[in-house]
Amino acid sequence: MIGTCHCGAVTLEITLSDGFKTARRCDCSFCARRGAIAVSAPLDGIRIITGADNMSLYQWGTMAAKHYFCKTCGIYTHHQRRSNPNEFGVNVAILSGVNPRDLGNIPWVDGQNHPSDTKKAP
Ligand SMILES: [Zn+2]
Repeated sequence: MIGTCHCGAVTLEITLSDGFKTARRCDCSFCARRGAIAVSAPLDGIRIITGADNMSLYQWGTMAAKHYFCKTCGIYTHHQRRSNPNEFGVNVAILSGVNPRDLGNIPWVDGQNHPSDTKKAP
């Protein structure tokens, strides 16, 4: 699939891990503000076609996750996940031909109690 930011500077070629079955929202302090629905892609599932030099990286807290966005229009494109660093989360709304409304009810991930922050006995 092709993904683009809003201004068109960044174009990505994206292969999802499992279609839209992985779609989720997260209520951690960052994702709740960003408000995007994410789907999973493997680390080799994203190829930057244009705009690699027009992307910015945002990291916070444990600095584990890497959130990428377009420097010009500010649109979040994808992030390397903290809970599974072998995966990217991709903003479904950048995918051409996809209307997030068509995805129906999207489950929420409990980002306020992130698995990497809770040290519960198994
Ligand atoms: Zn842009």
